Amino acid sequence: MPEEQDVELEARLADQERFVPSESFVSQANVSDDSVYETFEEEWPECWEQAADLLDWNEEYDTVLDDSNPPFYEWFTGGELNASANCLDRHLDERGDEAAIEWVGEPTDEENRTYTYEELHREVNEFAAALKEMGVGEDDVVTMYMPMIPELPIAMLACARIGAPHSVVFAGFSADALATRMNSADSEYLVTCDGYYRRGDALEHKAKADEGLGGVEHEVSDVVVVDRLGDDYDHPMGENHRDYDDLVADHAGAEVEPVSRDAEDMLFLMYTSGTTGQPKGVKHTTGGYLAWTAWTSQAVLDIKPEDTYFCSADIGWITGHSYIVYGPLSLGTTTMMYEGTPDHPEQDRLWEIIEEYEADQLYTAPTAIRAFMKWGSEYPDKHDLSSLRLLGTVGEPINPRAWKWYYKHIGGEDCPIIDTWWQTETGGMMVTTLPGVKDMKPGSAGPPLPGVDVQVVDTDGEQVEPGRAGHLTVQKPWPGMLRTLYQNDERYVEEYWAEYSDTDSDDPDDWVYFPEDGAKIDEDGYITVLGRVDDVLNVSGHRLGTMEIESAIVGVEGVAEAAVVGGNHDVKGEAVYAYVITEDGYEEGDEMRDRIVEGVEDAIGPIARPEAVVFTPELPKTRSGKIMRRLLEDVANGEELGNTSTLRNPEIVSEIASKVGDD
Ligand code: ATP
Ligand code: MG
Repeated sequence: MPEEQDVELEARLADQERFVPSESFVSQANVSDDSVYETFEEEWPECWEQAADLLDWNEEYDTVLDDSNPPFYEWFTGGELNASANCLDRHLDERGDEAAIEWVGEPTDEENRTYTYEELHREVNEFAAALKEMGVGEDDVVTMYMPMIPELPIAMLACARIGAPHSVVFAGFSADALATRMNSADSEYLVTCDGYYRRGDALEHKAKADEGLGGVEHEVSDVVVVDRLGDDYDHPMGENHRDYDDLVADHAGAEVEPVSRDAEDMLFLMYTSGTTGQPKGVKHTTGGYLAWTAWTSQAVLDIKPEDTYFCSADIGWITGHSYIVYGPLSLGTTTMMYEGTPDHPEQDRLWEIIEEYEADQLYTAPTAIRAFMKWGSEYPDKHDLSSLRLLGTVGEPINPRAWKWYYKHIGGEDCPIIDTWWQTETGGMMVTTLPGVKDMKPGSAGPPLPGVDVQVVDTDGEQVEPGRAGHLTVQKPWPGMLRTLYQNDERYVEEYWAEYSDTDSDDPDDWVYFPEDGAKIDEDGYITVLGRVDDVLNVSGHRLGTMEIESAIVGVEGVAEAAVVGGNHDVKGEAVYAYVITEDGYEEGDEMRDRIVEGVEDAIGPIARPEAVVFTPELPKTRSGKIMRRLLEDVANGEELGNTSTLRNPEIVSEIASKVGDD
């Protein structure tokens, strides 16, 4: 495209505030009728039978929602089903020879692996038989400490088949994190691997697993080890350690009858990362969770069985559980898994994979999109991405500039973008546009899904005026919700309900779920998530969302990413500190600093004017890619640095601190 025309296009996109899904998308969308919002409201909670109907039940449920003991809600009670049978067995007749998982390893000279539904079913059965032989029984928690290799979803589904809840610990977490989680769940079984490939290196994972096992306070019965690295790493095996391939070979051809689980039986535990305190064991159940992930995968991700669907998250996070494994497989589609990072061997790896597999959807995170943007559009431009039909984002608010970049350079201005707000605790998506129904507004996640009652309230629990910041709340239960924190009902009530509920009441109307996020709502009901409530600054008595200011800064030409925190200020209470990464090809310095200050003043007002702008090559991030603002706050206040052990890049904090000291 001639340069002049490109500039024009950028200007047009920069001004555009609403985007209409294309006619070609709408005409084929799974959900394209606006009336779904009204019907679901009128028919709530029975509307969720639609979600349950996407599943095969061994025993029909009697009650959609049992709300007799809030906030301990139960869904589809009396019903029985098995998650592995729903993800595998029922697809065999029609889709047995179709790919269930397309796995791409990081090394480009390695052969990728395809598992058809038939093959996946076989291996899940074999591993389920092995687990049973090891003595794993119904309701025994099996921990998995594994990277993005096919044996991870296989182990998860094998557990689901025999009714043993899994607890997946992200492979990037420390040995300590593994021990804490195994102790908390009383888990006597571990499935792990020798190592994996990361940016060209063979990482030795087994040593870390062994160190973690050393911290487990009870006896560990069995440790299964997948040999991922082969000759690249001769890993040590302990006495109760068993080789995965041997186990599966020993049970070749075995068939394990899927156990019939009560809808409310636990499917898995997932410990949230604990960026805000001790890890919480979020409990998800078989019926409600699976119904929720299946329904949202169909309605929001627009998944059809013949699609090749690519979510670039890690299965170690809830996004991978819900939208790589359970949602897509329950619908019988092809789900992709990629082992490595998007910048290895080159910064076009994802685009290469999408082109090769002709992926229909891409679901990723703002942190990745900002990185793609920083690397430049020449990388996606080298590839044919026309197979893509829908784009998604999750994990943090996405600023309009990154949204538009994604829309233009990845989606070719033809794919709707779903900006999905949800969390580990919600099990699946809660706030997002239905892509075949609603217009998109960059920066705003959209209206709550049909049947989901989200309100933005002030500290008294009253709805705030459109445009004003408040707290996001969910006023009614939903099938995918967590049921409790593992063996800690009290903390469950305390963490999520106490703030806005009358905790003495047994009337469900008196119970309100509080996800601890701030948000604002527009006249048209669209919700803009501002970030965690602890990410709100108080500058001279004005409450400002860090996200709002960050969004203004990232809107400035040449800025790739920004993080804003409050530093103590004698007069204002708090002052705005901005940490900024520039795009490649732009210079850090006074000129850029002035433009940033101006950008914030224009977008929000002089009240939000940054006291300091600190340029940095990186921001401190957790392994899930979230900015650790707490540490940046310590830096701004010249305080001793807090715990950096859950950071992906701990070294950057002292580097930033030295820059602030120089100022
Ligand atoms: P922890 O709860 O352990 O501190 P976490 O909250 O980062 O960790 P997740 O459950 O993975 O763990 O993340 C959910 C949070 O991510 C939400 O509460 C919200 O703050 C943020 N989030 C997710 N999706 C979006 C989105 N589309 N827009 C804005 N924020 C989002
Ligand atoms: Mg959280």
